[in-house]
Amino acid sequence: MKTRRRNYNPVAGAPTTSHRKRVKLTTSIGHNFFNMLPDDIVLSIFIKVGSTADCPSDFVAGVSTCRRFKTLGVNSLVLSKASAETFAVKAGNWSEFAHRFLQRCSDAGNVEASYTLGMIQFYCFQNRRIGAALMAKAAIKSHAPALYSLAIIQFNGSGGSKNIKDLIGGVTLCARAAFLGHIDAIRELGHCLKDGYGIGKNTVEGQRFLIEANARELSTICSKHSSALLSGDRKNLHLLVSDFGFCLPCSRSHPANRFLVDWFGDRRLDPALRVCCYGGCGRPETRVNEFRRCSVCSVMNYCSRGCQARDWTMGHNKNCRPPVRL
Ligand SMILES: [Zn+2]
Ligand SMILES: [Zn+2]
Repeated sequence: MKTRRRNYNPVAGAPTTSHRKRVKLTTSIGHNFFNMLPDDIVLSIFIKVGSTADCPSDFVAGVSTCRRFKTLGVNSLVLSKASAETFAVKAGNWSEFAHRFLQRCSDAGNVEASYTLGMIQFYCFQNRRIGAALMAKAAIKSHAPALYSLAIIQFNGSGGSKNIKDLIGGVTLCARAAFLGHIDAIRELGHCLKDGYGIGKNTVEGQRFLIEANARELSTICSKHSSALLSGDRKNLHLLVSDFGFCLPCSRSHPANRFLVDWFGDRRLDPALRVCCYGGCGRPETRVNEFRRCSVCSVMNYCSRGCQARDWTMGHNKNCRPPVRL
């Protein structure tokens, strides 16, 4: 009893490391402490772990501990609340197991899983109908990235001929994503209004949307990187000069986009098709000359004006030159 008191850490309220090394998590009758917890408490723990995990291994390590955890870890309640980072599998690690796990999360009602698997099916495996249906499943539950991705598909007529472009449908989806605060959707809508693309031209309103997109971007980045901004850490302050010339750090792409970047970085597309030149996007063309080109250099290709604006601020503004005519 004296030994326990000496090793108890009064600040942390938990046994010290030396004490933990000597005392196993077992009772005098040899049961593991976790075995004594009822299922609903263990489930609550897994829901918390799954919804806050930063990478798949955080979650998998917990689930793989024992047979009971394997069963409780894939309970539909846990899967429905798992974060996008929990199933952010790398393209090189893609497997039937990863596919089944994402599908189970989607079936459990996880909109992030539906969106991620939808993007993978649509672009990586060319299963256009299945991919679009999964994205629609997320979009119908007001998942802003899914609404925006479906808008890009409508604007570009992705997966079909250019005659099936639906500009009005694209603007409608974009407007819904913008209403939910999706920055790229607000920016895209601003450009559509300025150009009269799929909607009546309204330059003033378009400019207002572009200002709003930049203001939201500034706010998001400042809140995420406040320490770097305050300390003036130039290493972390790479990027972002948005439409109005701010120099700010870049926000992290969605796991679905990171997967596409990895996937098409390793595998060659049909040489006639190109991948969006914005490094945080990864969307490939689904037919020749689907994407818009930079009107100055005619070298860079973008799936959307949102990606073009981001890549411009990422550094293309320094490299963009008109082609040399011989
Ligand atoms: Zn793009
Ligand atoms: Zn250019």
